[in-house]
Amino acid sequence: RRVEIGPDEHRIDPSLLDERAVRVVQTLKEAGFEAYIVGGAVRDLLLGVRPKDFDVATNATPEQVKAQFRRAFIIGRRFRIVHVVHGRGREHEVIEVSTFRAVLDAATAEQVSGNEKTSKSELSGKSHVVDAEGRVLRDNVWGPQDEDAARRDFTVNAMYYDPLSQVVVDYFNGLADARKKVLRMIGDPVARYREDPVRIVRAVRFAAKLGFAIEPKTRAPIREMSALLENVPASRLFDEMVKLLQTGHAVKSLAELQTQQLIGRDEKNRPRGVFPILDAVLDGMARDPQCERFVQLALQDTDRRVGEDKPVAPSFLLACLLWHEVLGRWQQIRSQGEAPFPALQAAIDAVFDARVGDISGRGKLGADMREIWSMQPRFERRLGNSPFSLIEQPRFRAGFDFLRLRAAVGEVDESLGTWWEEFSSTNDEIERRALLDAA
Ligand code: ATP
Ligand code: MG
Repeated sequence: RRVEIGPDEHRIDPSLLDERAVRVVQTLKEAGFEAYIVGGAVRDLLLGVRPKDFDVATNATPEQVKAQFRRAFIIGRRFRIVHVVHGRGREHEVIEVSTFRAVLDAATAEQVSGNEKTSKSELSGKSHVVDAEGRVLRDNVWGPQDEDAARRDFTVNAMYYDPLSQVVVDYFNGLADARKKVLRMIGDPVARYREDPVRIVRAVRFAAKLGFAIEPKTRAPIREMSALLENVPASRLFDEMVKLLQTGHAVKSLAELQTQQLIGRDEKNRPRGVFPILDAVLDGMARDPQCERFVQLALQDTDRRVGEDKPVAPSFLLACLLWHEVLGRWQQIRSQGEAPFPALQAAIDAVFDARVGDISGRGKLGADMREIWSMQPRFERRLGNSPFSLIEQPRFRAGFDFLRLRAAVGEVDESLGTWWEEFSSTNDEIERRALLDAA
């Protein structure tokens, strides 16, 4: 049932709106289409939080949307959407515009036997495709708004807001759930997890991020169904993991993942394998108290930064999570007689092979992690020109923040961190030379 809610009831603060998202809605409406801000942005607006990004939903097809904007790109295969781009360079902003989609009907969707490696030719031309387990591989059938709402995950993520008329459209009592702080799956949770097992991880993520309770029927099947996550492409799980660590409640999220038996080891003592990085982190923390302190501190630091609206670089966070594994392998390779720097590179390669794999599009992220790690032994070389060249590194700041975490857990001397703090806070060559002499 479609319910329209006016500003007196929903009380959205218009100053939290993004002007460019409003303009995208306006442009589409003026062209005769329906258009709304949708999903997480509406949820955040109702909670009085400024949304990080704004998505727009419309009854215009991707081609029709693209035609309305100067810089717009149709992207995605599994899920075709349009990116409307404003501004350039670092300042640029993307508004994602998706076309209302029809509810998936498992009976009429084409079933293919494959998994993530299903060939392109097998999928080409088809717009609703599921695999043998019922997992949705392609979802590009357009439909009416009520069906678009029904295929979203949680009631609080399925509302539409027209910023011009200031009306919220709600089909599933999302507003009531937002007020009650309840995360409720739309439809039958078991069927919805089967369609897309990533919703299991999303439930954990939103509960942690929003401080919502997971409604009992939504929570109940999670443990049993988590085996379905094995069929999900590693790259999607990696992205979900990174988002989960950036909720501002990473410590809580990790604990919840453990409670739901999504990370760690199974009854046969095998790593669960859904999030290989997090499995390894739990092992490391159980084995080594210093690793545990380091990871806890890194996660707390991340949560604090998110709380202060500061950016957190996924590369930094992942470098923290995997550091003790790098350290362990580094020591091992050195003990075989390898020189320190090549040994460190070999250890880093081994950790990437074991935990990150060749997830495509992670080139920059991997390079940044490598740089942060590779800088660490260089902080201990306070001789000649070494500190002067280190400080000119583009990622110096990240490397230094990393060093400070190591100092905080006693892995390196506290005075090393203080020294670099002084060395990096002056631009004066003479002062720097004096610090170097005193080191
Ligand atoms: P965040 O603030 O973390 O970005 P979000 O709600 O915007 O949260 P997104 O992953 O950006 O989450 O997705 C946008 C919207 O798309 C969601 O609010 C939801 O309506 C819908 N959605 C995303 N992923 C799924 C999914 N796996 N199943 C069903 N609906 C989904
Ligand atoms: Mg979003």
